[in-house]
Amino acid sequence: MAKFYLTTAIDYANADPHLGQALEKIGADAIARYRRLRGDDVHFLMGMDEHSQSVVQAAEENQVPPQEWVDRMAVRFEEFYQRLECSHNDWIRTTEPRHRRAVEALLGGIREHNPDDLFIDTYEGLYCSGCEEFKQESQIADGRCTEHPTLDLVPKKEENHFFRLSRHGAELVRLIQSGEFQVEPAIRRNEIVRLLEDGLQDISISRSRFPWGIPFPGDPDHTVYVWFDALINYLSATGFPDAGYERLWPAQLHVIGKGITRFHCVVWPAMLRSAGLPLPRKVWAHGYVQWEGAKMSKTAGTAISLESALERHGPDSLRYFLLREVGFEADGNFTWERFDERYVADLADGLGNLASRSLAMLVKYREGVVSTTENTTSLDQAGLDALEQYATRMDVLDLRGGLEAAWSLVGRANQYIVETAPWTLAKEGRGAELDTALGTLARCLYRLALMVSPFMPGTAARLRDALGQDEASPAAWESGVAPPVEGSRTRRIQALFPKEQRAKTI
Ligand SMILES: [Zn+2]
Repeated sequence: MAKFYLTTAIDYANADPHLGQALEKIGADAIARYRRLRGDDVHFLMGMDEHSQSVVQAAEENQVPPQEWVDRMAVRFEEFYQRLECSHNDWIRTTEPRHRRAVEALLGGIREHNPDDLFIDTYEGLYCSGCEEFKQESQIADGRCTEHPTLDLVPKKEENHFFRLSRHGAELVRLIQSGEFQVEPAIRRNEIVRLLEDGLQDISISRSRFPWGIPFPGDPDHTVYVWFDALINYLSATGFPDAGYERLWPAQLHVIGKGITRFHCVVWPAMLRSAGLPLPRKVWAHGYVQWEGAKMSKTAGTAISLESALERHGPDSLRYFLLREVGFEADGNFTWERFDERYVADLADGLGNLASRSLAMLVKYREGVVSTTENTTSLDQAGLDALEQYATRMDVLDLRGGLEAAWSLVGRANQYIVETAPWTLAKEGRGAELDTALGTLARCLYRLALMVSPFMPGTAARLRDALGQDEASPAAWESGVAPPVEGSRTRRIQALFPKEQRAKTI
């Protein structure tokens, strides 16, 4: 069984999760579920980034100590992610002792392997409190952070511990271009290679007189800079530095947003190299959820609450919509109109209608029992083609492409029902042809349940249950070739995507 360790970015514990964060977690969860379906031994990590300045501010505004605040936020975030059906195996928080140990051990590893990579110097620059970092020239437009155009940059000067990032640039270019360390999609890889080729500056990795953080080993007046601390979470969760952490490390995949590629594709691999540790295999940087063409943000007043998006048509529909319409590669638009359109066209009238009609006919004409028929109709061939296309797309993390492959089969199957008109076959007593049609439709639903399961786990479970499949034994991907539905007792289901629910929530 191949090990597959994947992670998402950890969120700042300063406010409720938003739709952009939800997209990332849903996308990573679809990848995790797909890898499990393919038989991998998946370890899926999510968690919270709890040491930032913004956390201290939020705690002050709410008049509670920072620890109490982050405890409260961690519960809220995990509740939201459970409602979004995230199937993470571990939940890390950077205030946990296991994380502090790993941060200390990683710094110890750098000291041991590359002592010259750590030094003390004065830092002077423009600081963005939204990013929690000093911004470089290229990250500033009109005197403001390109990620946070509504916030003021603050001039800061202090004596800090530094990490000699500049020493690692050339080797990182080589590792990325050779594919040993993969940065995807290509547009992000090209950005990072350009940035590396322009040359790197050394970075400050501590803050003085900022008590909310991990004390810098050997210098209690300093805490470890929040980003340096946060990146190490991926390693902390493996049990590092205890023996056995290599069972999980290196990670197969870090899923992040495109705004933090510099940290994940430059700083993090350089830290690991310096400490003599292997690099993650791949970083995938998704785009942003936009609202009418602009980045959704609370500061700009264009944020849709995750709560309202979840309530609109339920978690499965939100997962589907975000990954199909917004996608997991470039930026994509969110509007209520498109959400409602796709809910009706793709889900209610598409997959939902196909499932209701097929299962209703099985019950009406064959008391729900799937006859033994050969696996050779044009719809079976379309199903096998869709499975292959789906896997090809999903293997390269093209989640939208995976959904398109599945929905091409939905369209083909609804067309098949019109063409074969099983009700006419029943009326005319053409029993063998009717068995063939109903059998191939049952196999088609089984294949769709497989393909849909990483995206809409609740819907897939209802479909499988209606097909008489035993939930105790989870479906294997290979079963899609010859779905074991013959002789199964199927039953009708209530609409998977009711339209009246939609009317009620608008
Ligand atoms: Zn910023």
